[in-house]
Amino acid sequence: MSYDTNNIFAKILRKEIPCNPVVETPHTLAFNDIAPQAPTHILIIPKDAYVTYGDFINNASPEEILDFNQTIATLIEQNGLNEAGYRIISNAGEHGGQEVPHFHVHLLGGRHLGNLLQE
Ligand code: 5GP
Repeated sequence: MSYDTNNIFAKILRKEIPCNPVVETPHTLAFNDIAPQAPTHILIIPKDAYVTYGDFINNASPEEILDFNQTIATLIEQNGLNEAGYRIISNAGEHGGQEVPHFHVHLLGGRHLGNLLQE
């Protein structure tokens, strides 16, 4: 699985294009999605180069994986999503509908999110 260093999130990480950051940690960056699908729509990405969830889990260090997951938990708390609920999604590859080939998780909340899959 080769990593395309010209993908849009790699450019955001290199600060070649701007983003609206929400949280930054040693290993993780979170920023608002440019086309939000819900009142809260945050993208969480590792700073190192991984393509998919599987790539990240198989190849990242335990510190990176812990930092990434703790960042998601922090964002759930910060956005007050625990009570009403939320959804986390990671699209991978063609069948997953992944548009940006840098591993990321979508954190969505703030409204009823409907069915899981919509064609
Ligand atoms: P995917 O389909 O790969 O899971 O989702 C990619 C997400 O990245 C989409 O929700 C899209 O709106 C978002 N996105 C694409 N380009 C940019 C960008 O330049 N800035 C930000 N903040 N989000 C982006």
